[in-house]
Amino acid sequence: MSDEKTLFERIIDGEIPGDIVHEDEHCVAFKDINPGAPVHILLVPRKPMPRLQDGTPDDQGLLGHLMLTAPKIAAQHGVGDAFRLVVNNGADAGQSVFHLHLHIIGGRPLKWPPG
Ligand code: 5GP
Repeated sequence: MSDEKTLFERIIDGEIPGDIVHEDEHCVAFKDINPGAPVHILLVPRKPMPRLQDGTPDDQGLLGHLMLTAPKIAAQHGVGDAFRLVVNNGADAGQSVFHLHLHIIGGRPLKWPPG
């Protein structure tokens, strides 16, 4: 893994401004700078795992924590009943920041399948 901090580590560490909406021991959430829906929040583990396949059995609790935290954040932003979680995993899947993150998207009808 590169020694250089990821963009999201720099936001978590306060080196780059971020509109932070949630922080706990394991993860931080902030608004996406280029929202694709009225609610578009990025939920990011503090631990900079690039992609899901870089996780280990030790990360099971962390990954579960993200899944349990996302609906709480969605509810706090008024979309608890209907929201989408997206992980773009790999460049061809649209990943541009190689620090695992869940997109929490909602606030408008969402089509399926995504493009
Ligand atoms: P990915 O394409 O890796 O799944 O998602 C990366 C997301 O990060 C994109 O939705 C993009 O808009 C968002 N993003 C890129 N740079 C910044 C930034 O500096 N601040 C914030 N808050 N979001 C960013």
